[in-house]
Amino acid sequence: MKIDIVTIFPEFFHGPFDYGIIRRARDAGLARIDVHDLRAFAQDRHRTVDDRPFGGGEGMVLKPEPIFAWVETLPVAARDERLAGRVPQSVILLSAQGKRFCQRQSQELARLEQLVLICGRYEGVDERVSQGLADRELSIGDYVLSGGEIGAAVIVDCVTRLLPGAVGNEASTRQESFTEYEPWPSGIGPTATCVSGGLLDYPHYTRPANFRGMAVPEVLASGNHDEIRRWRRRSALEKTLRNRPDLLQQAALGEEDRELLSQITGQNT
Ligand code: SAM
Repeated sequence: MKIDIVTIFPEFFHGPFDYGIIRRARDAGLARIDVHDLRAFAQDRHRTVDDRPFGGGEGMVLKPEPIFAWVETLPVAARDERLAGRVPQSVILLSAQGKRFCQRQSQELARLEQLVLICGRYEGVDERVSQGLADRELSIGDYVLSGGEIGAAVIVDCVTRLLPGAVGNEASTRQESFTEYEPWPSGIGPTATCVSGGLLDYPHYTRPANFRGMAVPEVLASGNHDEIRRWRRRSALEKTLRNRPDLLQQAALGEEDRELLSQITGQNT
């Protein structure tokens, strides 16, 4: 996958892409990440990339011309081709006003060949970038950051780890929080119809078996795979109910899940 990022602070990205899975994915040639300085695409000799807002008000707004000029240097198809899903590319504007980025979108973006990420600053980016250039406007959460760089780093991290070959054990990315998934491939685990069905992940433990009086649940050392699977599913349901009950509304729950939920809540659901 090719990832291009434009920002007025290219130095910001010294670091986030140099460790762990992203680093390995880059070294292995699975992801190529290029960071571009927006000022290099300014149209005047002062390298101006922002201007005062029409209508008055506080702050500055990133101008459209340098951003359009930059994207036009990249080998990306026309916006309507991208919007129609006819090319495996996406041009994404990071914005607090965008649709909320989620794991499902990470999975969808990980199937593309090229991502182009536009980082805003100041009061934001001239709306014509959203209207006529980007095919998605994404927000990483309901809060306002001072710039799009952290959002871009979040998307790159989430997507890169899903690229085939990026993590040693690919099954681990199928059993995660928020991940709706098809049955486990044979040989990886029980033939459950759904691993986490968009729930939060189950709790994980490692050695020591007893730490400051907190013992690892005995079932995990029992060697009984079906009991372990059931305990994990129940724990995932319990944790989701406690921390993110909203996810339960959309989760694909099976009969066993409903039975486990009844046990948890002590009533029929
Ligand atoms: N005036 C804007 C608003 O209220 O929606 C906020 C602008 S913010 C200070 C500057 C830039 O940070 C935005 O253009 C965007 O690129 C980025 N940004 C801020 N919050 C974000 C979020 N939740 N997700 C992604 N990017 C965000």
